[in-house]
Amino acid sequence: MDGKALAERIRAELKDEVARRGHVGLATVLVGDDPASEIYIRLKHKALDEVGIEARDIRLPADTPQDEVVRAVEELNADDAIDGMLVQLPLPAHLDEEAIVRTIDPVKDVDGLHPVNAGLLYLGRPGHVPATPLGIMRLLAEYDVELEGARAVVVGRSVIVGKPVALLLLSANATVTVCHSRTVDLEARTREADVLIVAVGSDRLIGPEGVKEGATVVDVGMNRSDGGLYGDVDPSANQVAGRMTPVPGGVGPMTIALLLENAVRASKFRSGEVAFPF
Ligand code: NDP
Repeated sequence: MDGKALAERIRAELKDEVARRGHVGLATVLVGDDPASEIYIRLKHKALDEVGIEARDIRLPADTPQDEVVRAVEELNADDAIDGMLVQLPLPAHLDEEAIVRTIDPVKDVDGLHPVNAGLLYLGRPGHVPATPLGIMRLLAEYDVELEGARAVVVGRSVIVGKPVALLLLSANATVTVCHSRTVDLEARTREADVLIVAVGSDRLIGPEGVKEGATVVDVGMNRSDGGLYGDVDPSANQVAGRMTPVPGGVGPMTIALLLENAVRASKFRSGEVAFPF
């Protein structure tokens, strides 16, 4: 399943939509200089610039106290030119991540991590949903993957990928199993999956023996090792799977595209064109 090609199409459509709307503004907040976070922020800004979203790049030193980070978020909440914002995680250890995320106006929370947005997803009335699970669902739709009644297995239960994608699959009437680090006999569980989503962060954890013949496999993992980028699923599983996402070129580009879409959605929430469900 070619996430790169679909993401390019979504981005082209968004570029037209942003031009039609005249203005969409998104701010990112990066605290400290974690190299991986800097790469993500750079990638996001490149994509924002390409589709014409006005991007603001807020950078704060690693030792910024809690109240100053909170104040920066509050200023963005009050700023009319800013439709959406995200605080790049993880934050330095001295900061209270949850309290900072709670400060974000839920309408502007394009990462969908505010308890209001997490709760709305739980209730089946989504507001903002994290970009990676949205990207996964869009890929499955693009390839006409049958979800109704399908046996879906999600490996990983993070709030940014595993849990929200499990809820979206449930809303799409799949029968969902969520696996994690304490799951007993993981391979037996993943082999039951018609649709297997793996978001663990463990280099090529799932091999072909963990995949059911003909299954659809979505590999979210991004693991840097041996000088390359590898997923959580061994590429050889593709011989057993019916369809599979590559790493790179699968979920990664879809995440960026859906983040852009979330920024446009935030702008629609703010203009009242789409009602925010809270
Ligand atoms: P987290 O570290 O937050 O969560 C990992 C999850 O995997 C946890 O629920 C953990 O279980 C579970 N887990 C760990 N080891 C095992 C194991 N041996 N067997 C089964 N489950 C296990 O990671 P994220 O969800 O944030 O990210 C997962 C991966 O996806 C990473 O490689 C990350 O880089 C990548 N990623 C890629 C994105 C993209 O755009 N392509 C976007 C976001 C993430 P427990 O809860 O019990 O600890």
